[in-house]
Amino acid sequence: MAIVLTNGECYISHDNRTGGIVKTGNVEEAQVFYSCNTAMRKVFKAPSKCKGYYPFELDEPACGHKSKQERKKYSKEARKMVYEKADGCCMLCGQGLLLEDMTLDHIVPLSMGGKDEMANLQAAHRECNQFKSNILPEDFLDRVVKIFTYQMEQNHSGNQVWGVVQELLGKIV
Ligand SMILES: [Zn+2]
Repeated sequence: MAIVLTNGECYISHDNRTGGIVKTGNVEEAQVFYSCNTAMRKVFKAPSKCKGYYPFELDEPACGHKSKQERKKYSKEARKMVYEKADGCCMLCGQGLLLEDMTLDHIVPLSMGGKDEMANLQAAHRECNQFKSNILPEDFLDRVVKIFTYQMEQNHSGNQVWGVVQELLGKIV
């Protein structure tokens, strides 16, 4: 899924130099989001700049992103191999997983140049796979820790044990 923010005429683009929002008439320069939620988060962050802009799903990823690869269909046997390699667990959350519920997660996302081959596949729950989306493996832990820390802050701020955990966590990641 490749989503851009447009007002029907221009597109929201990300200025890598300033980190700010710029507008462009060229769809190839538009910032690409991989879910409506992330696109809308951008709008909520800068409501005045994004006024009148709405998410629009592109048929093909914009240029600069590899054109969409046809995803391979993996055989039952291949799926079973991935499942057994994972010992019947989701490789993202570590919880048990039924073979029929397993989705194939591309360890390095296809959109980030990952190959559609067995070595780049791991077992994952559908929800966990969607959550990881197209985050690179090396960025995934960082994202999870940020989400975890923020959620804990929201729900347990002031809790002393959480305070200690947070301090210890800071020493590792
Ligand atoms: Zn999972």
